[in-house]
Amino acid sequence: MTRGTQARAALCARYEKDPKGYASGKRFFAFEPGIYGHTTVRKALMEAQHGKCAFCESKFDHIAYGDVEHFRPKAGCLQVEDGPLLRPGYYWLSYEWGNLYLSCVLCNQRFKRNLFPLRVARSRARYHGGRISIEKPLLIDPGHDDPERFIGFRSEVPYAVGNNVRARVTIGALGLDRTELMEQRRERLTLLWALRVVAESGKPEAVAAQEKLAEMVQAPSEYSSMAKAFLREPARRRTVSARKKTGHPGRSGSNARKAQQGRSGKR
Ligand SMILES: [Zn+2]
Repeated sequence: MTRGTQARAALCARYEKDPKGYASGKRFFAFEPGIYGHTTVRKALMEAQHGKCAFCESKFDHIAYGDVEHFRPKAGCLQVEDGPLLRPGYYWLSYEWGNLYLSCVLCNQRFKRNLFPLRVARSRARYHGGRISIEKPLLIDPGHDDPERFIGFRSEVPYAVGNNVRARVTIGALGLDRTELMEQRRERLTLLWALRVVAESGKPEAVAAQEKLAEMVQAPSEYSSMAKAFLREPARRRTVSARKKTGHPGRSGSNARKAQQGRSGKR
């Protein structure tokens, strides 16, 4: 908090000396990863996010600790994937707690990168005197919005609730329907199905299965949003629709492939 506040003031003072230079890309800010990526920040984020990527809900493991990601990009941003890089970016938010998330490498480096689309592009704050409060970001902010209001799941496939634009943009920009992620979720779903069968069996082990299911919808569990959606769906409809599609209650490979094709078609 102390070092970040001082460093922010220094960045703003530098910008004021040559706004055109920074806006044109002739000048660059030097950011300090030692502040926003400090062990204490990383640890606090890890705790707040239950050891999961803020965007895809994958658990960090001992190999990948994740990147400290700036929700509003600090060094330049894109309204659309193949559009011009808008400089200088949200430099004044580079040490701001509310702008930091822990993200897996894939979500951050392969998908989100500098993307930060707004509903109205011209409302974008372009320097520290601008107002981000009037911006309407298209990406769902996991720290301020409730992602479950926007993104639902049919089996392991995420979809936009009511076809809302923010979910459509977020799923596309973050690759929330990417192959690797679908495979991980499908594995989880198979476990949920199996537990559900045991939980409803009336056998002595049913209690343990019910407890495990209750744990899997809690925030600390991997892909808990999908697990919640799975348990919300009425059992009868779920069984019928899944069997119709795939002949197996826990798999919906055709759906996954469809979503992947949709994505590659867009790109
Ligand atoms: Zn991720």
